[in-house]
Amino acid sequence: MKAAKVDIIDRLPTPFGLVRSGVAPDHPETKIVVNQFSRVAGNERCSFFGNVSLGSHGVSLSELRQLYDVVVLAYGAESDRSLGVPGEDLGGVYSAREFVWWYNGHPDCKAMPIDLKSTDAAVVLGQGNVALDVARILLRPTAELAATDIADHALAALQESTIRKVYLVGRRGPAQAACTAKELREILGIKDLYVHIQESDLVKSQTDEMELENSRIRKRVFELFAKRAASHRSNAIKGQRELHFIFFRKPDRFLPSDSGLHVSGVRLEKTSLKENGESGRQVAVGTGQFDDLKCGMVLKSIGYKSVPVDGLPFDMHQGIVPNIRGRVVNGAPPEHAAVEHGLYVVGWLKRGPTGIIATNLYCAEETVESILEDEKKGLLISDSQKLGRQGLLQILENKGVNYVPFSGWQKIDSEEKLRGQLKGKPRDKITDWEELLRVANA
Ligand code: NAP
Repeated sequence: MKAAKVDIIDRLPTPFGLVRSGVAPDHPETKIVVNQFSRVAGNERCSFFGNVSLGSHGVSLSELRQLYDVVVLAYGAESDRSLGVPGEDLGGVYSAREFVWWYNGHPDCKAMPIDLKSTDAAVVLGQGNVALDVARILLRPTAELAATDIADHALAALQESTIRKVYLVGRRGPAQAACTAKELREILGIKDLYVHIQESDLVKSQTDEMELENSRIRKRVFELFAKRAASHRSNAIKGQRELHFIFFRKPDRFLPSDSGLHVSGVRLEKTSLKENGESGRQVAVGTGQFDDLKCGMVLKSIGYKSVPVDGLPFDMHQGIVPNIRGRVVNGAPPEHAAVEHGLYVVGWLKRGPTGIIATNLYCAEETVESILEDEKKGLLISDSQKLGRQGLLQILENKGVNYVPFSGWQKIDSEEKLRGQLKGKPRDKITDWEELLRVANA
């Protein structure tokens, strides 16, 4: 495999996936990994084909498999889990992913009608790191965001935002919150923020104690909650922004406004925790007691979801491509696994939407090891001649797809940095599809 050539295909005209459209703008240190990605892309054996979607409009999976010895699917999780409760489609209810794409300048979410001026309260459902990201962006002083690469339209909307209260709602307790300590410490450290944590929620059961003993991360998170709960004042000062952690509540329904079109609140059901023998974790069960939380915006941050493409084995229940160490298999592993030769998977599409960038690096190494092993065993040799890049170019030409090469992205990159310099930010993202393509093709 020493002389392998690699073509990277992306639906967007820009590379770097979640690093560009998922990582929060106020986390520039996390984005440094693009330097490593750019070095790889700069290798003469690597090519980038942006603005090419996987499917009938771009190139289909079966076409790719005919063209290349190895196809690795790394397209992550571009959709959202849904709650399946009444009112989920009301105006003002968004998935956290959409909101994140909006403030990160993803061209699909530029025109989202995010209204931060008609309410003083937002509810975030879920208590993972994405929930903390969106809550932090809503609460952080905009002067601090102005120096980041946040999309211009989002900065303008946040500068005019009337949202003063953010409720972070978890169906389980502070011992089970899915966030990590660094991210929790960061949000608790926002300047001049009033934080409310109900001290009675911090009472631990024996099972909680055991869970905390078994997880250093959970223990540190719990200690941060406890420390903050013990130190906070009973009320916010007038005009101060507020963050309320609400534990042991699960969404029952979204309440409509008088017009019936917009969300005006969330009905929450109080929960208690029950041990689940099968999963070994405590699960939240409803108690039949309800309370309503008034708000004009809801961000559902309950996890991302991968979507299948034609011809790809897909486990709908787990939302992943069934695989053995990255080798795509048709049928549930291990008993019914028939390996799809030459087809591999990495990242969230392989494991589900959990883990940070480093987790994905290890995950990619595992898949690459599988590819190398298969090549050594001669499993990648096919009887037909694979046309590779030449064949891809032919398909794109036939379908009239105007692909963006890495040099096209470099033009976008330079233009964004130049525009950013004028505004005192690292880059001013181009958020419009047509403009991205125009700049790339200039
Ligand atoms: P996550 O960590 O899995 O958190 C999902 C949250 O949604 C949990 O609080 C979960 O509660 C809750 N939830 C799920 N289904 C629910 C339902 N039906 N009703 C109510 N609540 C529900 O997912 P994420 O926040 O989307 O993050 C994805 C991954 O990216 C994570 O590994 C995260 O650490 C990573 N990430 C890292 C950073 C960072 O390092 N700065 C930033 C963003 C994301 P339960 O625990 O009860 O299931």
